[in-house]
Amino acid sequence: MLEVRNRIVACRACPRLVWWREACAEQRPARFAGEEYWSRPVPGFGDPDARIYVAGLATAAHGGNRTGRAFTGNSTASWLVAALHRAGLADQPVSERRDDGLRLAGVWFGSVVRCAPPGNRPTAAERDACLPFLAAEVDALPALRVVLCLGAFAWRAVARWAGARPLPRFAHGAEQVTPAGLVLLGSYHPSRQNTNTGVLTAAMLDAVVHRAKELAAAPASTVTRSCAES
Ligand code: SF4
Repeated sequence: MLEVRNRIVACRACPRLVWWREACAEQRPARFAGEEYWSRPVPGFGDPDARIYVAGLATAAHGGNRTGRAFTGNSTASWLVAALHRAGLADQPVSERRDDGLRLAGVWFGSVVRCAPPGNRPTAAERDACLPFLAAEVDALPALRVVLCLGAFAWRAVARWAGARPLPRFAHGAEQVTPAGLVLLGSYHPSRQNTNTGVLTAAMLDAVVHRAKELAAAPASTVTRSCAES
């Protein structure tokens, strides 16, 4: 995993995103004045024995791009890590800084695109350039069983990469078994846009995290059979 991490952090394959990840620091909100921004691609983070991979859309400009750790330092991170903590999958309910001591239990954090994109909208070419990093992390997690996809972008990207045919429709709570036996589980993204409007509630996020935990604990043959029949 260290080799994967080093490749991610050194990547400069997408000129537009290399520019933007650095420009974010120059256009920072006043509340982050004086902070040193990471402004590089953000590698995955978590438990090497993870059974659940949480896949986001892309690095957040003032979350991961500022702090240098996935799902850290913004509203999305607060919602996600609080839910994982309630489920016993994180040792603390907050994720604020790279050195805050957060430890995940059986969970890995990653994203489809590792650099912050303008408007949170990576292009198809940027998505395809970055997906091999997610694939490399998945390959380096031998116990992995479930990919929890936050939002339709992550769901479609991971489903396409995993060879799910026909491409399954995204929904909150959707499940799809891949040819390799991983279970894709869909969730509305815990972005401020969704949580402030009630599209995603804490109870809905808890339910999907609970389901991820259940799928991760089930024997492989049971998971594959039950999902294939649903
Ligand atoms: S988005 Fe991914 S592929 Fe593109 S520069 Fe960043 S790390 Fe490299």
